[in-house]
Amino acid sequence: MFPTKPPANKFAQPLTFLLCFNCKTENSRPFKEGDYVFLEVEEKCPKCGSNKMLVTGIYVKEKQEKKKEV
Ligand SMILES: [Zn+2]
Repeated sequence: MFPTKPPANKFAQPLTFLLCFNCKTENSRPFKEGDYVFLEVEEKCPKCGSNKMLVTGIYVKEKQEKKKEV
């Protein structure tokens, strides 16, 4: 028997948005403990390879419409 409603909050993982200091590219990745807005983090920019990025926002995705191909 299947439940009528799937658990909604199971995959509501926050996303951290990062801005590259060097080329101003925006990137996002799953939230890590200790992240907060305007924190400088050592993350590699996917575009220019710089490893200094700024946290610009942290958001919770309510629904994941796309299926992950992992
Ligand atoms: Zn960059």
